[in-house]
Amino acid sequence: MNERFLYYLWENRLVYRDLRTTSQSPVEIINPGFRNTDSGPDFLEAKIKIGEQVWAGHVEIHVKTSDWNRHGHQNDKAYNNVILHVVFENDTKVNDIPVLEVKDHFDASLYCRYEKILMSQHWIACERQLRQVKSLTVNTCLERMAVERLEQKAAFVSKLLISNKFDWESTFYQLLLRYFGMKVNSEAFETLASILPLKILLKHADNLCQLEAMLLGCAGFLEIESDEDYPMLLKREFAVMQSKFNLLTMPIERWKLLRMRPVNFPTIRLAQLAQMIYQNGCLFSKIKEAQTVTEAKLLFDVEASPYWDTHYRFNVEGPFRPKHLGESAADVLMINAVIPMLFCYGQFHKDPSYCENALRFLEETDVEDNTIIRHFTAIGITANNAMQSQALLYLYNFYCKRKRCLECSIGNYLLRTNRD
Ligand code: SF4
Repeated sequence: MNERFLYYLWENRLVYRDLRTTSQSPVEIINPGFRNTDSGPDFLEAKIKIGEQVWAGHVEIHVKTSDWNRHGHQNDKAYNNVILHVVFENDTKVNDIPVLEVKDHFDASLYCRYEKILMSQHWIACERQLRQVKSLTVNTCLERMAVERLEQKAAFVSKLLISNKFDWESTFYQLLLRYFGMKVNSEAFETLASILPLKILLKHADNLCQLEAMLLGCAGFLEIESDEDYPMLLKREFAVMQSKFNLLTMPIERWKLLRMRPVNFPTIRLAQLAQMIYQNGCLFSKIKEAQTVTEAKLLFDVEASPYWDTHYRFNVEGPFRPKHLGESAADVLMINAVIPMLFCYGQFHKDPSYCENALRFLEETDVEDNTIIRHFTAIGITANNAMQSQALLYLYNFYCKRKRCLECSIGNYLLRTNRD
């Protein structure tokens, strides 16, 4: 037995049949309370009738009564308002709080099925039974996961926003850069955002060459010798900007190019970012105005300046190939920067229209392709859009991997519908 399962029984009112405290007073659960995931008692604001008296307060749950002292609750004031101590097994008396032993008051087959899930060695615990789950249950689960995922991302945006003193444009710029470099260069892009604030770039937003010079210069890519005209021009521009704004330069070693497709090289990405700022100015203002995903994605409809048509790096000429920011890169930025920002903005200003737009944009963005999504497809759940693929990633990382099947509607369905 474990406490997680006892929480599940309590929360879902699955303890029944002539409930009595250990001193034989009848117990009626009027309201089990709500689950407290912070420190303090397990369920808050419960309403319980014990004997003839209705009590309002907290409920603490343990496998054994003696866990009360083992967990040190006897010295913790947060537990002063506990009205009922629910235990699987009453092994000793620890205080005067009424104790409800539930050992013989639930369907034992539920626990057998739960144990089976816990012991599963499959990729995810319910893998073998997943195809038996009704599509309505799967969809309900995915909808909840998508919202939780978005709330988690919005919470991250919110922290960033506070550190930026509620400057939405700077926050969006930092978030954008974090995802501009893919996983491999995300830290380097974050460093660049910290040494080259958006405010400085916006002072020269009408000059593409100066924008590129500042981005590539601060990133360290202009610490080169060259006999090509364009890099020399950028170097000269950067020297002027550097002394004007006291700009720092990153060591070039911070950037990783190994095993990377040239189209994703940071030089190309930075030239595209310069173009994005040049074309749009304040980026988040544009995003806020967008009513459709197509409008929002116009922000990413950019091409690096002409020098890059024949280059991926300075001084290395290649075939003519304009460097347009591709669809999949735009989708990554939509999913990780645009949509969480809009959701956070809606929450912050208590304007649900932004949150609705964020969810709709997610639904209208293409499904992601990675090993987790492919694995789910193979075992019976196919994501049709980015909202569902984000939901599956979250489900896998925050529920399946942690065996939180009791908190997942798919797990609940399997436990309660008697399927093995
Ligand atoms: S958390 Fe849900 S989807 Fe994941 S293994 Fe458990 S029951 Fe299955």
